[in-house]
Amino acid sequence: MQDNPIKIAIALGANLGNAAETFQEAVARLEAAGVRHCRLSALIRTAPVDCAPGTPDFFNAALTGEWTGSPEELLHLCQELEIAAGRPRKHGINQSRPLDLDIILFGDTVLQTPELTIPHPRARRRRFVLDPLAEIAADWAFPEDGMTVKAALDGLKG
Ligand code: ADP
Ligand code: MG
Repeated sequence: MQDNPIKIAIALGANLGNAAETFQEAVARLEAAGVRHCRLSALIRTAPVDCAPGTPDFFNAALTGEWTGSPEELLHLCQELEIAAGRPRKHGINQSRPLDLDIILFGDTVLQTPELTIPHPRARRRRFVLDPLAEIAADWAFPEDGMTVKAALDGLKG
């Protein structure tokens, strides 16, 4: 258990059900579980990549907040919320889902364990992660090299 609140960023994704409602519900549940000062970005809509034909479009958003527990506790909370939103515990890669919660940043923590990699390893390659995150945390720097969210996004656009 950390003593001080750590600033965290989470990417939200959904391509089944009402994403806007699911994301609001996820924010409410995160706050109820102790994430403070939650801020949710606008939603963006993205065509599926590397998915089966007929896969519905994805909605993505990002949230920032403050968390006093460990990264693993936050991951387990996110996994509980995914299941509460109707996601099966076992699922295929890139399978349609009512809710996906990925931890993008956890303060300036750099962590790699079998269950958790922080910062999220694919975040910087994904516009659907960086676009919404830049709306609410443009100046936040990735801890490995200090590149800001905005700079990473501009790099992808270029
Ligand atoms: P994806 O998000 O790539 O669609 P999943 O949501 O199914 O895939 O996640 C697969 C696994 O990724 C999870 O069981 C979790 O242990 C692991 N994982 C590793 N790093 C992270 C992270 N930063 N945030 C969320 N899950 C992570
Ligand atoms: Mg995930």
